[in-house]
Amino acid sequence: MKRGICFLLALTFLWLSACSGETSSNQAENTRCAQCGMPTEEFQAWRGKITGQTTVKHYCSPRCLFINSQSQGLTEADSVFVTDYYEQKLIDGRQAFYVIGSDVIGPMGHDLVPLATRQAAEEFMQEHKGQQILRFGEVNTETIKGLSK
Ligand SMILES: [Zn+2]
Repeated sequence: MKRGICFLLALTFLWLSACSGETSSNQAENTRCAQCGMPTEEFQAWRGKITGQTTVKHYCSPRCLFINSQSQGLTEADSVFVTDYYEQKLIDGRQAFYVIGSDVIGPMGHDLVPLATRQAAEEFMQEHKGQQILRFGEVNTETIKGLSK
């Protein structure tokens, strides 16, 4: 009798671990940062993505998004999304305003903080001692290197 219960418990445990293992690995696979490999669901406040015609790349932060798109190249067909710092929702990354040099730290350290409007970006500059507002096309490899300083 005792042995039977143990067997049942063992079966249940196996079944549970098989199930949870499967779902978590699927999610992780789909949403790992394409640049650094961190699971992006842990960084909802910073995540971004680039969708091409057949591909979707997820990123843990604007920093990873820029590093990856600069090394891989970006085409006009790619749609870029970043998370607005105040609204906490995905916005068009090509239209966003990016504040650098602020006191806000992202998942990968100092980051470019995306905001949907210039007004919000200026507000953020005041609140968090930002140094500069950049548009998407103004962010280059030097900008990214400068973040760590
Ligand atoms: Zn990353």
